[in-house]
Amino acid sequence: MKLIFLGPPGAGKGTLAARVVEILKVPHISTGAIFRSAIAEKSPLGLKVQAIIGGGGLVDDETTIALIRERLDREDARGGYILDGFPRTIPQAEALAAFSPVDRVVNFDIPDSAVLERLSGRRVCRNCGVNYHITFNKPKQEKVCDRCGGEVYTRDDDREEAVAKRLEVYRAQTAPLIGFYRDQGILVDVDARPAVEAVLAAFKQALHIRI
Ligand code: ADP
Ligand code: ADP
Ligand code: ZN
Repeated sequence: MKLIFLGPPGAGKGTLAARVVEILKVPHISTGAIFRSAIAEKSPLGLKVQAIIGGGGLVDDETTIALIRERLDREDARGGYILDGFPRTIPQAEALAAFSPVDRVVNFDIPDSAVLERLSGRRVCRNCGVNYHITFNKPKQEKVCDRCGGEVYTRDDDREEAVAKRLEVYRAQTAPLIGFYRDQGILVDVDARPAVEAVLAAFKQALHIRI
């Protein structure tokens, strides 16, 4: 199954994707995670996008589309995938439709107040990228990743100034994708407010997944 997870920053897309990949056995492809590892490696791509991402803006469509196109060409994505954080603009969605049309788009429905609470408490492992939350999902040992022992840190773009900008960008550039996909009849809404287990159950029900 080819899926898009659509929703504002902090809606819980990455957290749910980590659970769903175990069920569907498809890769979880996060453009944000790919950009963050490029930044950590100081690759040419990383150097190009670091300031944009830190400020809460969007990387340009051309760069992002080329990146995803290459990623979806890899063998492991043939049987399906979860796209988390892509597309974020109408031109990205149009490009994707031309090279790899998806089956369903899951719209994570959540109010701004909940998003702000999730983003302000989000922490991420610098090494393996797994997510934590200082209230809802703490690492066992402060600032140490349960899974790999890596350093757990606050993303630059989860600081207050960048968060306001990201929500603005979401509304202007990404939210129009809800109508775009609803018109195609492939959008499913999932209430993203409850705890992860309940969101997972709602997701499975919406997609008729019985495993
Ligand atoms: P979030 O967890 O807040 O939804 P992501 O990890 O998906 O954020 O993305 C982090 C940042 O990476 C975005 O704010 C943006 O700067 C950049 N980015 C990720 N995906 C895209 C995309 N599809 N188009 C443009 N920029 C992107
Ligand atoms: P996104 O990928 O949409 O930006 P994340 O999956 O990174 O969102 O989640 C944002 C923050 O909220 C993380 O700190 C995560 O641990 C926490 N979180 C995710 N889902 C839930 C949930 N259902 N209930 C409470 N906290 C959650
Ligand atoms: Zn880790």
